[in-house]
Amino acid sequence: MKKFNFSALIAVAILGFSFSTFAQNKEVDVVKYINSITSNELKTHLTIVASDNMEGRETGSEGQKRAGRYLIEQYQKEGIPFPKGATSYYQKVPAEFMNKDSGENLPDSENIWAFIEGSEKPNEIVVVSAHYDHVGVKKGEVYNGADDDGSGTVALLEIAQAFQKAKKEGHGPKRSILILHVTGEEHGLYGSSYYSKNPLFPIANTVADVNIDMVGRRDELHKDSNNYIYLIGSDYLSTDLYKICEDVNSKYVHLNLDYKFNDRKDPNRFYYRSDHYNFAKYGIPVVFLFNGVHEDYHQATDEVSKIEFDALSKRTQLGFSIAWEIANREDRIVVDKDGK
Ligand SMILES: [Zn+2]
Repeated sequence: MKKFNFSALIAVAILGFSFSTFAQNKEVDVVKYINSITSNELKTHLTIVASDNMEGRETGSEGQKRAGRYLIEQYQKEGIPFPKGATSYYQKVPAEFMNKDSGENLPDSENIWAFIEGSEKPNEIVVVSAHYDHVGVKKGEVYNGADDDGSGTVALLEIAQAFQKAKKEGHGPKRSILILHVTGEEHGLYGSSYYSKNPLFPIANTVADVNIDMVGRRDELHKDSNNYIYLIGSDYLSTDLYKICEDVNSKYVHLNLDYKFNDRKDPNRFYYRSDHYNFAKYGIPVVFLFNGVHEDYHQATDEVSKIEFDALSKRTQLGFSIAWEIANREDRIVVDKDGK
């Protein structure tokens, strides 16, 4: 008996040892976290965020604040806190800031933020942004902005959830993730402008911004397939960032990356028209994920029923994969170009 037990113990010890060695050497299964981003969950969130109840999410309106509270509830449910150094999930964007040059009469509004602290380099920040405001109610019609930018808004919820799931399982990001829902975009990128002038974390420690604005539809140029995304800005400041976008896409997501609008001289000027620009201005590498415009752009018909959730899901997965790689790679991505 004794001898038998002894060898059994050794066998158990060897087995245990080889299993733990295997676990340590095994690459973190990022695919599992990518796959936690699903069409169904995106649809559940978007059906609420872009419902009439949110009154088109006009900057500073009660409808926008209601949408904001829904976002915060999701972070609380997931156990995702507001950032270190903040006192709540809100960054107030004062009316004076938004109205000073524009002559508009907007009330105070709020950016909303959530935070997944990095395990190894917590002071290096990867921002993932999307605007949650839209244009409100006009002539009695609610402009639900399901694509613009309800799609990016719910993408952020799913990306945050995927990072948090990884963190709970011991695979949290090495660098910190700042989830940033910005306000006032439709009036002039005010929320991101305010953040970049009043950053919670030093600009010098801000590694990149992955900005997601309109990722649930297709444009005229892609009538035959929604399996694409326009990437804009990824190679303007950092060759590393461009390569990361290409690599994670070919490894995990397999969208057609379209660089048609990756051109500062393009007459549409998309590079200057969403929130990433307020980070790029300060020399922070950015990538903008965008599906292009369509007939419902800034119309009351930008509705949830027209969202293609298979496309929204893959584009959200791409945004997550890019942020994951930036946050987890050994070296911080290098700024090796002047952005011009
Ligand atoms: Zn937008």
